[in-house]
Amino acid sequence: MADYSTLQALQYDLSNGKTSCTQLVEHYLQKIEDHKDLNAFVEVYSHDARSRATVIDAKIKHGTAGRLAGMVIGVKDNIAYQDHGLTAASKILSGFTSLYSATAVERLLEEDAIIIGRLNCDEFAMGSSNRFSYYGPVKNPLDKNLVPGGSSGGSAAAVAAGLCMASLGSDTGGSIRQPASFTGIYGFKPSYGRISRHGLIAFASSFDQIGPFANSIEDTALLYEIMAGADQYDNTCSQREVTPVSLDGEKQARKIAYFKDTLENASLDPEVRAQAVALIEKLRAAGHTVEAIDFPLLEYLVPTYYILSTAEASSNLARYDGIHFGYRSPNAHDLESTYKLSRTEGFGTEVKRRILLGTFVLSSGYYDAYYGKAQKTRRLVSDKTNEIFQDYDFIFSPTTPHTPFPLNQVESDPTQMYLEDIFTVHANITGCPSISLPLAQHKNGLPLGMQFTAAKYEEADLLQFAHTLVNN
Ligand code: GLN
Repeated sequence: MADYSTLQALQYDLSNGKTSCTQLVEHYLQKIEDHKDLNAFVEVYSHDARSRATVIDAKIKHGTAGRLAGMVIGVKDNIAYQDHGLTAASKILSGFTSLYSATAVERLLEEDAIIIGRLNCDEFAMGSSNRFSYYGPVKNPLDKNLVPGGSSGGSAAAVAAGLCMASLGSDTGGSIRQPASFTGIYGFKPSYGRISRHGLIAFASSFDQIGPFANSIEDTALLYEIMAGADQYDNTCSQREVTPVSLDGEKQARKIAYFKDTLENASLDPEVRAQAVALIEKLRAAGHTVEAIDFPLLEYLVPTYYILSTAEASSNLARYDGIHFGYRSPNAHDLESTYKLSRTEGFGTEVKRRILLGTFVLSSGYYDAYYGKAQKTRRLVSDKTNEIFQDYDFIFSPTTPHTPFPLNQVESDPTQMYLEDIFTVHANITGCPSISLPLAQHKNGLPLGMQFTAAKYEEADLLQFAHTLVNN
């Protein structure tokens, strides 16, 4: 069976009996088995997927199937699916089973999606390489010596290798867009609060957002539309109407800004710069206005993100105490040693580093100098960004400063890895929707994502514009 790149093409074949959900599920199960070495899946739900396929095939026959009939999806291991395991790729949650499904998952199931398994990621979604997982690293399907990016590395690798048609990831500082760029697929982070976080394991609550990975803008838009919208279980989820996405809207000339310093940034691979410049020229030739603007706050983005996200993480992760969930140290003998040993043995090094850093920036002697300052910087960045969106429709940058790095690369200092996020964190700090499009290729043969960010809640406009770009 050939892989379908859009759900529409698949549903056409499903409706005329050329294929069935049952055949499709068997096809993906076989591919998952054949590509086990990628380590993309933590658990495969063969039995569930097969029985749902039978039910949905019957619905298709009776003309009662939902909008996602035939869509076989993988879900990142930090998004809850009732009665299934959920660990955020951490030992501390080993053996934990979800008591309920995330609202996003619920909405996909209501439209007859089939969930085929849960996907590997960096522990608690902290990382940019998917090497910080209790289950071991994920490999990039394009070159198994390279990282797939992170933290949603399993979600990206599974779609890129054709192990499922689409997947869900979470993006706190770039974890959907960066791995999408590293594996050559579409990755979309909607506005903060556009998709409910109910059932998403919290990392940094004021940044976290669920979003899709797919092989096309069409599937990206459809998954987004189905998952988006108010939810009584998440008070931070926006009450605003979700603007329907119309992909065949009029082609219009757009105003696009890019930060001068982005393309002059020392960390930027010259070939990535050349490809970004080539895309800018192409956009201009197509009638769009593309202008370089000053954004003096660029150098503060990564520090702001890492101060605030670790502060929030240190508070969110306090609940893993060896009592309520998952792992409890067998060596514990009283309350204090239960906390101490369970957390020491249950969390990996990167997660511990972030808890320590977050606790430090929140501590009374340092709160004003770090946490308070970073909050103020966040406000400045948001205000400046809102100003930019008064004049421009989108902000453009490459998704990442370079193509995927080797799995065995050793970083002498963890902040080296944090700088990976230089172009992606802006959208999380401001809560804006942002998408990585597989529009370019490096001369080393690897894909390069190009990122467009829109003003908050302008997803429909962003996706429509992305559609015109991709189809030209
Ligand atoms: N790479 C970033 C980090 O390590 C982003 C993570 C994410 O978006 N979940 O925090």
